[in-house]
Amino acid sequence: MAADVSITFLGGLGDIGRNCAVIESEGQLLVLDCGQLFPDELMPGAESVLPDLRYLDDKGDRIIGCIVTHGHEDHIGALAPLLERFAFPIYGSPFTVGMVRTRLEEAGLLHRAELFPVADNERRSIGLFDIEFLPVTHSVPCGLISAITTPQGVIVHSSDFKLDLSPVDGRFTDLTRIGAIADNPGIRLLLCDSTNADVPGRSASESEIGPVFEHVFRLNQGRRVITACFSSHIHRVQQIVGAALADGRRIATLGMSMKRNMQLARELGLLKIPDTHVLDIEDIDDYPPGEVCVVSTGSQAEARSALALAAFGDSRWIELSDTDTVVLSSQAIPGNEARVGRMIDELTRCGAQVLHTAHLGLHTSGHGKQDELKVLHSVARPEWFVPVHGEYHHMVAHRALAVGMGMAADRILLATDGDQVRLTDEGASLVEKVTPGSYVFVHGDLTEDDHDVFRERLILGDEGVVVATVTVSMDSREIIGGPAVESRGWLGVDNYETITADANEELRKAILIALEGDEAITQAALERRVRRAVGGFVNRRTGRRPMIVPVVTVV
Ligand SMILES: [Zn+2]
Ligand SMILES: [Zn+2]
Repeated sequence: MAADVSITFLGGLGDIGRNCAVIESEGQLLVLDCGQLFPDELMPGAESVLPDLRYLDDKGDRIIGCIVTHGHEDHIGALAPLLERFAFPIYGSPFTVGMVRTRLEEAGLLHRAELFPVADNERRSIGLFDIEFLPVTHSVPCGLISAITTPQGVIVHSSDFKLDLSPVDGRFTDLTRIGAIADNPGIRLLLCDSTNADVPGRSASESEIGPVFEHVFRLNQGRRVITACFSSHIHRVQQIVGAALADGRRIATLGMSMKRNMQLARELGLLKIPDTHVLDIEDIDDYPPGEVCVVSTGSQAEARSALALAAFGDSRWIELSDTDTVVLSSQAIPGNEARVGRMIDELTRCGAQVLHTAHLGLHTSGHGKQDELKVLHSVARPEWFVPVHGEYHHMVAHRALAVGMGMAADRILLATDGDQVRLTDEGASLVEKVTPGSYVFVHGDLTEDDHDVFRERLILGDEGVVVATVTVSMDSREIIGGPAVESRGWLGVDNYETITADANEELRKAILIALEGDEAITQAALERRVRRAVGGFVNRRTGRRPMIVPVVTVV
């Protein structure tokens, strides 16, 4: 009888983000990715959302290693909080490990993790697990599929992937090897990316973007071209650079993360730019606009990003004018559309011409669509399947896709955050919520899992706050201080004084009525009265529901 194996999902199953799973057998824990989620508009003030790492509280010292499948934030962005508590080695491709190294250096945590770069098709033993790392195509270089031999057979984790049949770097997904493993010894469990499981067809190859840029440069002779894409998307950068060089331009880099990632990629030979054509951003004005291409971050219009600063005229490095063409080579992430729209407006006000995906095929997804998922399923032919990496509806669509390909529905386990899949000699089973799997929010120096704080912040943001202060004497049963109603974010300046005066008057009457009776009134009861009186007035008079904060002192 072989030892049981469990896989616990600490994040990433129900969202695109904060991917983290723990594979466990005989007391040894292997962590698979540890990423962050970017907060949406329903989490105002949160800087980041982490996986729920509490599952590891009493067993983190048994972590034998962490595999980082690729260098995206949703896979590596939460390593630091985990390393603050536990030390363990990290394994990934040289590019991924390079990105992790910078991150840990910044966090002062490099001494907590030995970093092991692994080559394509390398095999490594980590504790009792034997792992084969296979190349896979995605929107960041050097992603790795992990084929993990466990006491309960081989678990294949697809990583984020598309099946790019003409990859920019000539590095293909090793479907042949996956097929060979499927033949012998067979794949017990497949964990597969669901991001585009509800999108029919296949994603365009990354290499189809290069010719679009050649076209852009041809049309913009004599103009400076500023391009923006994700800084980890080195293959996109390579295509922009290739087209720019062919057009006789030099390359300048704008934005810290772009500078860092391009430097790392050049060191590893993943990005090719002749030194003669690298231009310092400080020197761009020494060259005619038509000889310059700027490669920038900020395609999502993030507030402090290089391109957003330039758009709003706050950049130290670049001033935009009507001789500039700005090319946004990415799709606005859902939730960012309005912000990107505002940035495009500002860029246009600067006089720049702006090109984005609505005009030209300037972007393609890094996640395989249905046809690509079907190829992987048909090659892997797993005994069991767990859709991962997606919102709930993506994972459900992925299950339907697998069923459509003939897989028995009871061989597919639909897990969500906090759930555990157990592999035993008898088969696989799903244990729900072995750990809460909650969102863990980073607010400044604190991490909290309290959702209510956002409800309060949303009310404050939408409606403002009204503070009603009053001091009463219980002996004489009279008001001896206030009442004073103050507010922020509730009233515009035109109405503030009159409505506040009316609120004070209304509150004074309500308190006097309360004090008139004979019975003793507690502070809590008075606070309730104040809240009701002010809330009622505010709602009647303004039709609004700001947060009401009663501050009652009884002497
Ligand atoms: Zn991802
Ligand atoms: Zn990714």
